[in-house]
Amino acid sequence: MGRLGALAAVAAFVMGFTGPVGAQSLDHLARAMGADRVKTVQIKGTGFYYHLGGSALANEPWPKFNLKAYDFLANYETGSAVIDLTLSQFLKPPRGAGFQPIRGELKRRARISGDVGWGINRQGRTGPSRNTAPAIHALWTSPHGVIRAAQAAGARVTVHRSKGQDFYHLNFGKPGAFKATARFGPDGLLRRVDARLADEVLGDMRAVTTYSDYKLVDGVKFPMRMTVTYGPHPALEVRFTEVRFNVAADIKPPKGLKARGQRVKAEKAADGIWHMTGGSHHSVAIEMADHVIVFEAPLSSARGEAVIAAVKKTIPGKPIRFVINSHHHFDHSGGLRAFVAEGATIITHRSNKAFYVNAFAAPRTLRPDRMATEGRMATFLPVGRKHVISDGTRRIELHALTGNPHCESNLIAVLPKERIMLVADAYSGRQFAKKPLPKNRVNPTGAHLWRTLVRLGLDKRVDTLLPIHGRKSEMRQIRWMAGVK
Ligand SMILES: [Zn+2]
Repeated sequence: MGRLGALAAVAAFVMGFTGPVGAQSLDHLARAMGADRVKTVQIKGTGFYYHLGGSALANEPWPKFNLKAYDFLANYETGSAVIDLTLSQFLKPPRGAGFQPIRGELKRRARISGDVGWGINRQGRTGPSRNTAPAIHALWTSPHGVIRAAQAAGARVTVHRSKGQDFYHLNFGKPGAFKATARFGPDGLLRRVDARLADEVLGDMRAVTTYSDYKLVDGVKFPMRMTVTYGPHPALEVRFTEVRFNVAADIKPPKGLKARGQRVKAEKAADGIWHMTGGSHHSVAIEMADHVIVFEAPLSSARGEAVIAAVKKTIPGKPIRFVINSHHHFDHSGGLRAFVAEGATIITHRSNKAFYVNAFAAPRTLRPDRMATEGRMATFLPVGRKHVISDGTRRIELHALTGNPHCESNLIAVLPKERIMLVADAYSGRQFAKKPLPKNRVNPTGAHLWRTLVRLGLDKRVDTLLPIHGRKSEMRQIRWMAGVK
């Protein structure tokens, strides 16, 4: 019996009802997909990439980039993969996150082996992945990854009859990363994978992968087109240009790779003001008369918990009553939920509130955090163009960077008495400009920040910058970054 014959026999056996048909039919799907002949696969392609959680406003789609090269290499025997994306600027003018505008090319390089993930950053340095779920998901929802993952999980096939045809479903997953239903057509070929993927902001985030345009490659049917959505928006669209099976794929974590624990360093910037550094994204603790306000809860619940612990040690005996969220980009909001669990109210731009209410209502079964396990509800203090916080001892002014290409709703905080400004992304202390940048190297985000500061007169009222990325800096460095002498 041929492979389609075998599938027909399975279909005939179930006679039009929906239900389980047993493990043996997984073998039929594996045969239809040629999975037993594929140990490794190398895929090249081109298309579009979209930066998850990086839109200029919370309700907009993820910003789009040209995907000049998609390079995927998977080893299903060792459970490892290389995922390299070569990007170039698509949006003109630039809008949103992802190091826009990209001049030339930008590479995003992720690696996974088992549950160990690592990456290579823009400077070529190798380091552990902050979040391995997307790479684990990409590996095990690839066409033959689905079959391998389902076989490993002992998944059973269920048959679903629609318009007189049988479709085959497989439920499988990887604990802590994702769970999924793979859908196969009457021909036994994979069409779609509906997954829930662990995300710090969106919780059990919906991730839908589709496969189409099957071609025969070395006797194996393989889809030449793939699309992925994350949450409600597109994440990836690739047309494959080259598929090679059973190439060498020796993918191992680099020696000495260690998942770094959360390190938080409290650096005093003024009386009662601490730059909480130690990682890639900082926070700032501000001591008020009878409570503490923290500016920025970045990255993850784990980072949030570590910052909370460090703030309590640095400023003992005062509760953290507010957390100011500079902007909604996921690397700047992933730690908010830890502060909610701590009892803090989220101060954020009003354009973000509905987004967070929705996002935080999503289930968190894949990677539960304290807010989920303790059943806490978030409270918000939404703000507009300007908002002043004062308790008589200290004054904090919040200003929105309305019109900024990186983020329209980005909030900066100014402490007028201390002449200190807190700023995320629009200025990053890593740009240690020692003199004004030449005009052709000026980033529109930095130029907009400088114009806004001048318009508000803040350029004259601030000396010191505590950026969320990089080290303490001086106001004149923003001027230089904007190309102004
Ligand atoms: Zn950002």
